[in-house]
Amino acid sequence: MITAKLLANHPASWQDALRTAITDPAELLAVLGLDPGLLPAAQAAAARFPLKVPRGFVARMRRGDCADPLLRQVLPLGDELSEAEGFVADPVGDLAATAAPGLLHKYQGRALLVATGACGVHCRYCFRREFPYGEHQAGRWSTALAAIAADPSIRELILSGGDPLSLSNARLSELGSRLAELPQVTRLRIHTRQPVVLPERIDQGLIDWLAGLPLQKVVVIHANHAAELDSSVEDALRGLAGAGATLLNQSVLLRGVNDSVDALAGLSERLFAAGVLPYYLHLLDRVRGSAHFEVPESAAVALHAALRDRLPGYLVPRLVRELSGEGSKTPVA
Ligand SMILES: *Cc1c(COP(=O)(O)O)cnc(C)c1O
Ligand code: SF4
Repeated sequence: MITAKLLANHPASWQDALRTAITDPAELLAVLGLDPGLLPAAQAAAARFPLKVPRGFVARMRRGDCADPLLRQVLPLGDELSEAEGFVADPVGDLAATAAPGLLHKYQGRALLVATGACGVHCRYCFRREFPYGEHQAGRWSTALAAIAADPSIRELILSGGDPLSLSNARLSELGSRLAELPQVTRLRIHTRQPVVLPERIDQGLIDWLAGLPLQKVVVIHANHAAELDSSVEDALRGLAGAGATLLNQSVLLRGVNDSVDALAGLSERLFAAGVLPYYLHLLDRVRGSAHFEVPESAAVALHAALRDRLPGYLVPRLVRELSGEGSKTPVA
């Protein structure tokens, strides 16, 4: 019995942790002791964009509290089904910036590879929740890498998705070897939520792969609230830093999750204690189904000013929004 219990608490591998993620809204409500009355709406919203949340992340939520900031990021709500003016399928012009299937080239010197469509968690506000991953052959990289080879101005490759650390170590090694054929690329950046939602993913094989890459490495994680970071996340981050990666965080300003000075300051302090610098605080990308998360721009600017008053400059993330067709993220002043 004891062995079975230990096994349940410590999945054998990150793949097991991913396979056993909660995908049934009824189970999520039951595990957290929440009102079953939330179920019909959760099921209706999950039919559009499925629920997915690893058990280790659920363990960091408060039981019995449907306003928990971690829960709000993953629980499907009826609000997602109402149409709102200006909220669309592709809010940031990804499709217009497609340089090759799976390769988005918006900004000078850096290109973004949609390396896979899979994520460890489904964030309800995700700006790529309707991205046509199938058409972008996520996971088949030849044309994308050929397009980079043909454009020597691209010096940095960003692995995104989906979550690029959903790929196995073998697939990442394959990608790493192909990068060796692109000597112009000197920096590899990985945009990933796995260190936060599935810290088991940062296993020794991944750390060894990263450490062995003859490139400068940046890992940009995605956390929105201090409660997302526990000691298992700290261990994962220590592993990545040990492999030589610079660690940054990007967050989205979300109503009911982190739209207070205390929440944002707490997040910055917690990140820094774990060796991560705050990079961007994004205004919500206006993707269909996410209007209930939006914080008005004037409120965002006021929060950011209060954060500057509260924290040292290096703990204040840049407040930005992504506008289709612009040459960089746009600062919000
Ligand atoms: C956000 C983004 C980047 C990275 O922008 P930085 O300002 O360098 O962090 C690169 N490419 C695409 C397509 C992006 O959306
Ligand atoms: S991890 Fe990132 S890409 Fe995946 S659902 Fe969340 S926001 Fe979207």
